[in-house]
Amino acid sequence: TEALASRDPDLFDSITKELGRQRHEIELIASENIVSAAVMEAQGSVLTNKYAEGYPGRRYYGGCEFVDVTENLARDRAKELFDCKYVNVQPNSGSQANQGVFNALLKPGDTILGMNLASGGHLTHGASVNQSGKWFNAVQYGVRQQDQRLDYDQVRELALEHKPKLIVAGGSAIPRQIDFAKFREIADEVGALLMVDMAHFAGLVAGGEHPSPFPYADVATTTTHKTLRGPRGGMILTNDVEIAKKVNSAIFPGIQGGPLMHVIAAKAVAFGEALRPEFKTYAKQVIANAQALSDQLMKGGLDIVTGGTDTHVLLVDLRPKGVKGNATEKALERAHITCNKNGIPFDPEPPMVTSGVRLGTPAGTTRGFGEAEFRQIADWIVEVVDGLAQNGEEGNAEVEAKVKAEVEALCEKFPLYPNL
Ligand code: PLP
Repeated sequence: TEALASRDPDLFDSITKELGRQRHEIELIASENIVSAAVMEAQGSVLTNKYAEGYPGRRYYGGCEFVDVTENLARDRAKELFDCKYVNVQPNSGSQANQGVFNALLKPGDTILGMNLASGGHLTHGASVNQSGKWFNAVQYGVRQQDQRLDYDQVRELALEHKPKLIVAGGSAIPRQIDFAKFREIADEVGALLMVDMAHFAGLVAGGEHPSPFPYADVATTTTHKTLRGPRGGMILTNDVEIAKKVNSAIFPGIQGGPLMHVIAAKAVAFGEALRPEFKTYAKQVIANAQALSDQLMKGGLDIVTGGTDTHVLLVDLRPKGVKGNATEKALERAHITCNKNGIPFDPEPPMVTSGVRLGTPAGTTRGFGEAEFRQIADWIVEVVDGLAQNGEEGNAEVEAKVKAEVEALCEKFPLYPNL
């Protein structure tokens, strides 16, 4: 038979177990979400068979009339969603979207100014281990020691000193809104281009719950799989026709070959979903949930970096309880709560240990959790962390087992993919 279960039982088993894991755990990884069955259907479609190098109407292969429709739907919906003129939906990932912009606008050795990893920036914004840090002269800004907020004075000083060709705003662990107007002012002062990487908060922009990078950014990049709730992938947006042309050439033939048409189809489905009124309700709830989670964790004796959040993400500073990020990630996993250890600004611990965990609400919100559920989740986290504080890395097995049972009971009340 053609069915995966009988054709490839080992592989099928790994997928079945992953579905079980997602069903029975609370997902708090801030960069993850739960896509609709329609998104998965598009991604699992025959479009995976098609080569379509080039762009709609200008392909290097025959037989592209239907995938042209697919890609145009994705483009048009993205333009409407983010109110911008030009979009490239072909980047295979967020990293490749960023690489595409760099390839379009920079030459090796040019200076870029981005946020450092330790303050919440992303690897692709100039980290030394990433191509962006190896091929470009990467200068990095951070956050202020006193309030852990983005240090705009430092951005300006570094920009004046190093005259970057491109300034990058955005990151992977920034709980507060970014002042795009301020970045624009600094970019104009030194004649730099401004790129906003909105990967994390794109869904909040789409839902009208977060300021848009436009009109301030020359170009914006995003992933499509985080708050935006689409398939794994990337996208580049701009209002500047010259930048748009350069970006198109930079993605293909610059750094990619045939676009993943099945993924582009799934992006189109997700953008269509994001244009519906329910998505606004979701985006609002994501933030309300993050604020409830943050507030309840502080009531339980934990610190939150910057004292809270205005987005979907929060960084928990575990130091008041004397426990580490790596041990906390493991203990919560034993209780079926999934998150990741994360350095906090000026973290005294190395990256494999850390003093923090990063938590996010997009997946839980999609699942249907509201503020009451997130306050309950905060109480469970505090119980597990207190177990670590008492017993060291082993944690408190009894508490962890109790929390795990309660987590599973909550998950049953909010079934995931009931038709799979
Ligand atoms: N940009 C930001 C701000 C991110 O947080 C991420 C993902 O973590 C990326 C880019 C890269 O996306 P991908 O993992 O799809 O390459």
